[in-house]
Amino acid sequence: MNQLAQKNLDNVDVWQQICTELKKRIGNATYNSWINPLKLVSLENHELQLSAPTKFIADWVETHFYPKIRALSPVEIRTISISIGGLNEQTPPASEAVEVAPETKVINIDNYNEAISSRIDKRYRFDNFITASSNDIAFAAAKKVAEKGGDAGFNPLFLHAGVGLGKTHLLHAIANYNLDNNTGRKVLYLSAEKFLHCFIRSLRDKKILEFKEELRSADILMIDDFQFICGKESTQQEFFHTFNALVDSGKQLVISCDRAPSEFTELEERMRSRLASGLVMDIEKTDYNLRLQILKSKTAEHEAQISDEILEFMAEKITSNVRELEGALNRITARTSLVSRQIDIDSAKNWIADLLKVKTKDISIQEIQKEVAAEFNINLSDMVSSSRAKQIARPRQIAMYLAKKLTTSSLMEIGKMFGGKDHTTVMHACKKIDELQREDLGFMNSIETLTAKLKSC
Ligand code: ADP
Ligand code: MG
Repeated sequence: MNQLAQKNLDNVDVWQQICTELKKRIGNATYNSWINPLKLVSLENHELQLSAPTKFIADWVETHFYPKIRALSPVEIRTISISIGGLNEQTPPASEAVEVAPETKVINIDNYNEAISSRIDKRYRFDNFITASSNDIAFAAAKKVAEKGGDAGFNPLFLHAGVGLGKTHLLHAIANYNLDNNTGRKVLYLSAEKFLHCFIRSLRDKKILEFKEELRSADILMIDDFQFICGKESTQQEFFHTFNALVDSGKQLVISCDRAPSEFTELEERMRSRLASGLVMDIEKTDYNLRLQILKSKTAEHEAQISDEILEFMAEKITSNVRELEGALNRITARTSLVSRQIDIDSAKNWIADLLKVKTKDISIQEIQKEVAAEFNINLSDMVSSSRAKQIARPRQIAMYLAKKLTTSSLMEIGKMFGGKDHTTVMHACKKIDELQREDLGFMNSIETLTAKLKSC
């Protein structure tokens, strides 16, 4: 790619172009399941950084789409990385910044000397956050901060919970509230990643003072996923100074974290007690009713037609966190939109089989061989033979692939179990099956079904 073209293409355009090309090649359904949830974080120095709402999606994209993304990019991409979390909406184009009411500044530091409102997800609001006893106090506390800023009566607000339980949603809801109501407050939202990125960049560019000023000028400063900041001595110190300056001048601080201050062993004592000096609030795990209500609310938002039976099934089975639940719902919604008939529960189960909390049992290579042989109607002995006939070699490759994916055996051990094959043969099989899945959605579905069957038998 020549330099001029590279220069003329905005990063968002580049990502859009990659997405459009990918969609053409992999089809809408696959695209909606895997690529649509990704968000562009940055594209700099040939390094593409994306974020995915779940680790599952990130892993899948890594194993299935990296080469395609690289090949389809109009600019050279040398490395791709995907972080977990963040918002599953693409970075809004810069022009969206004009939507921000002039009196209220909501800033996400993309560039410490450029105050642009971006990446505040407009969908994350107080009115679509469903409450129950597990999260209603955290919700009320966040709302109070949104309404009163530094006069909330507690400072900082320290929200802690496991992943996918609504921390980021509440932080964005605070920002959205201030935007919508034109409160005139300057609200600064920073993911920990962004904080670190800006901090390191400002050190490098000798602009640390500007960076500190920017932080200290906020009326409400929100730091998301604080756990990533405090492991590092220098940023911990920096944060601590900013923290004191803000609180002392009556500005409100909101911190989200995966654990309570008392659980931080790596934190200095003065910092730990300072963090705990405001309101420490946790969001507990969801219960069945809350999960069902969330599903109903999101289904209505998407205007999707999904039966109560399917929603109840999901609420019962996907208990880990709301993000996983949403992932499953998105998958079903995406596929439902492609067919005109009402989706039955069995199809739904198949589509999300890998997300379901099935019995976590160890799967053996022998079980895989047996299942695959039965599925393709070949003899079990064919699994260890050296026949190259396609009707035998392909199922054998599938079994090797599944052995790699579902067991902890090494390539060498797997090779041994397939009649003493070399580890490169296993590697080749895995690559081939990956490739076939990328090319053929039907094939991908049958591998997914087989995987789900093995996990549940
Ligand atoms: P966290 O930051 O705690 O990891 P998020 O705020 O990103 O979690 O939440 C993950 C997803 O679940 C988001 O899409 C969010 O809208 C949704 N979610 C979580 N809790 C609720 C809730 N109580 N009501 C509605 N949606 C929720
Ligand atoms: Mg979060």
